Amino acid sequence: MKITFPHMGNTFILTKALLDSLGVDYVIPPRNSKKDLQIGIKYCPEMACLPLKLNIGNFVQAIEQGADTILMVGGFGPCRLGYYGEMHQEILMDNGFKVDVVILEVSKGQVGEFINRVKKLSNGSSYFKIIRAVKDAIKIAHYVDELERLTFKTRPREIIKGETDRIYSDFLNSVAGVKGSEQIGALIRDTGQKLLGIQLKKDFSPIRVGIVGEIYSIIEPFTNFNMEKKLGYMGIEVDRSIMLSYWIKEHIVKKVLFLNKNTAFKEAAKPYLGAMIGGHAQETIGNSILYCRKGFDGVIQIYPLTCMPEIVADSILPTISREQGIPVLTLIVDEMTGEEGFITRIEAFVDLLQSRRETENINETPILSWN
Ligand code: SF4
Repeated sequence: MKITFPHMGNTFILTKALLDSLGVDYVIPPRNSKKDLQIGIKYCPEMACLPLKLNIGNFVQAIEQGADTILMVGGFGPCRLGYYGEMHQEILMDNGFKVDVVILEVSKGQVGEFINRVKKLSNGSSYFKIIRAVKDAIKIAHYVDELERLTFKTRPREIIKGETDRIYSDFLNSVAGVKGSEQIGALIRDTGQKLLGIQLKKDFSPIRVGIVGEIYSIIEPFTNFNMEKKLGYMGIEVDRSIMLSYWIKEHIVKKVLFLNKNTAFKEAAKPYLGAMIGGHAQETIGNSILYCRKGFDGVIQIYPLTCMPEIVADSILPTISREQGIPVLTLIVDEMTGEEGFITRIEAFVDLLQSRRETENINETPILSWN
């Protein structure tokens, strides 16, 4: 068995940590590029969401390198993600690719079912080994997110432009060469120390922008043209409302262990969207309000064309912007989106935020420490 999995930002790091610990053979597909998109467009229905097309692009390339089993997370609820696993299987089979799709999704409290699905992939590992490997991989997800958050802070403040990305790119290139949670964890800590060593501007209070929207398009840099990096170079500090470790904690760990989920965004969203309608719509609404309460200068919503939950959120955001007094920019991505137009809109939004800032008295935002 040779496993593969889709790219979504840094998910490959924790999946690699998990599979390394279980001693399973795997193929990491090449990072997302136009080639994945072209493959996805060729095999997927035209109106399929962009993440599904990119996933198919990832899988076809991994199958060409020998992968025969696909590892996917699933989902319940009124959104197409719940059908993704089956759709992948059918699209690939219809086009002559023979693969198995294993979906890691569990119902509330079903620890046994979750562990059994991991066992199917685990090369005969004991339950104890599986539980330890899952725990370590979750820790890696948390560390990787901390590292990314640190880049959100250092990028706009660095004195030598590009230093954050030189260190961070080194990390992304090196991580494929190290094995297991322990080595990956050590590399993350080392990278964190290097980032903390970057010389930063003093007395600089960057504009702060919260990123909300559909998980794939906000986490995967290929779909948003490396927006967080570009904003950083414009001197903007970003905060992403959904991080990988947060998603794992809320949608897998808490579900498996029957723990209460985070309700802060639901409470905030209540006056505008009181029900879960699928995808991340309620998170988009609630987190936009929370960003406003935390004193952020603006919010950017990103979602793939035809994503129904985010279309609903998009229709509510102008009211939130007006009533809560926070500028909101919505960006919709698909295979036809051009980078130039995308960046022009971001630059115009940043100009707007800067001119608002000049008329307000905003306190300096402190940089977080690495731990
Ligand atoms: S959240 Fe949107 S983009 Fe993601 S699977 Fe659902 S409909 Fe598609």
